[in-house]
Amino acid sequence: MGKADLHTHTDASDGDCSAEFLLKRAKQKGLRTLAITDHDTIRGYLKAVEIADDIGIELIPGVEISCLWNNREVHILAYSFDTEDEEIESLLRRQSLARKARMRAIVKKLQDQGVDLDYEEVQAEAYGGNIGRPHAAHVLMKKQYVRSFPEAFVRYLGKPEIKNIETGYAEITEVLSVVKGAGGVLSVAHPGPMYTDTEIEDLLSTGIDGIECIHPSHNFDKQKKYTEMAKSAQLLVTGGSDYHGRSKSEYDPYFGTVTIGEQHVSALLRTSENRKRIRKDLR
Ligand code: AMP
Ligand code: FE
Ligand code: FE
Ligand code: ZN
Repeated sequence: MGKADLHTHTDASDGDCSAEFLLKRAKQKGLRTLAITDHDTIRGYLKAVEIADDIGIELIPGVEISCLWNNREVHILAYSFDTEDEEIESLLRRQSLARKARMRAIVKKLQDQGVDLDYEEVQAEAYGGNIGRPHAAHVLMKKQYVRSFPEAFVRYLGKPEIKNIETGYAEITEVLSVVKGAGGVLSVAHPGPMYTDTEIEDLLSTGIDGIECIHPSHNFDKQKKYTEMAKSAQLLVTGGSDYHGRSKSEYDPYFGTVTIGEQHVSALLRTSENRKRIRKDLR
């Protein structure tokens, strides 16, 4: 049976490899299905979709959306939506702008702390991709403020005064309605390190379709717990490696090994097809 990785990043957000490199590596690793889930952008997916057939990978539209739930930032994975849907395009455009404004505020805060850093340096590090704290982390490393990527988060970017800067991200209710309206399905990303069981139940009651049961941050007990939770609530099971490329992620060894089976992909695609059919009938 084919293996699938439904959580990966490219240089269209904070991953460090191109969509083409990722597809080729996925093929080498024996994956059948891949979703590129860059933070708040589908530009990596749009590049990949043109070459996926030639490389021999089934590619599913995907994106990891940062959004607000009870004033808290949550990451929601969206799959198999119509990538030309205007509401999706508008949502992702606003998310990109919000990321830029937030990064300007982050840079200002670091400058106030005496760090010699400007927005343009961080932007250059993102080389055209959707900007995020990992890009600032790399600049801090290059400028020798920190020696490692995790240290940049411990000493600067993960501090409350940075984390508390308003993000301007969309509310979860909007994300749910836009993605579903575009025939897509949604899954709670990496719940393990993020939520208590009560919180995840509350979060699922917003109308999310699935749980990312399989993720490198989940030990076997967590995989089992979330898979049982999904099964009893008749929700989709999703999973993947959260690959960000070699230099940025402790998750690199998991690419090709942290995978899910094709039956979960089929269930996800069926849910999306039904949603698209209903949408078409309503029009
Ligand atoms: P942002 O999208 O700007 O909020 O940045 C979040 C991204 O930074 C995550 O998707 C991870 O790739 C990375 N990240 C967040 N926290 C840490 C951390 N403590 N150590 C390393 N990477 C992190
Ligand atoms: Fe990331
Ligand atoms: Fe995430
Ligand atoms: Zn991710």
